[in-house]
Amino acid sequence: MKALIVIDYTNDFVADDGKLTCGERGQSIEQRITDITKEFINDQDYVVFAVDVHDENDPFHPETKLFPAHNLRGTKGRKLYGQLGEYFNDVVHEHSAVYEWMDKTRYSAFAGTNLEMKLRERGIVEIHLVGVCTDICVLHTAVDAYNKGFTIVVHADAVESFNPTGHEWALEHFKTTLGAKVLKNGIVL
Ligand code: ZN
Repeated sequence: MKALIVIDYTNDFVADDGKLTCGERGQSIEQRITDITKEFINDQDYVVFAVDVHDENDPFHPETKLFPAHNLRGTKGRKLYGQLGEYFNDVVHEHSAVYEWMDKTRYSAFAGTNLEMKLRERGIVEIHLVGVCTDICVLHTAVDAYNKGFTIVVHADAVESFNPTGHEWALEHFKTTLGAKVLKNGIVL
C-alpha cells in the first residue's frame, strides 16, 4: 500500500484571485493532479489532502510576517481548486477509509499533524507527493519524510510553484539529496 499526499491545492494557492497564488503555473497541473488522485482512490490507496489553515493576524504564527493572509479558516480560499474541488470538496470531510482531509499549520504536512501515525498504522512506507508549492510545502514535507525514513515519489507534472527557478531547483533536490523518485507521466525522470 502507498499513500498520496495532496498538498495545498486550494483556491488561495492556485486560482487567479487566490491570496497567495501560483496562478497559471499552479493551474497547469489541474488535470494531472486530479487524475493521479482519482487513480489512487480507485486503487484503494490512502490519500491525504493536507491543507494549510491560518487565522487572520495570528501574532504567534511565523507566516504572518512572511506572506499575505491565506487559507483562512472557513473561507473559500481553503477549498480545493478546480476539477479537484469539483470531485472532492463536497465529500472530503465525510468519513472515508481511503481518503481524508488533514489541516496543517506549517509548510510540512508532518508538522503538528498525525500524518506519520496514520501512515505507520497502515504500514505505508512509500509516499507520493503532488500539489503546491514545489519548493515550499512540498519540499518541507519531503524533507520530513526523508528524515522519518519514508520512500519518496514526487510527480513532477503534478507539482508547481511561483516561479520556474524554485520549482526546478526543488525537483533536483528531491532526486539528488532526498533520494526521491521524480516521475513525469508515471515515468522516472
Ligand atoms: Zn501558510
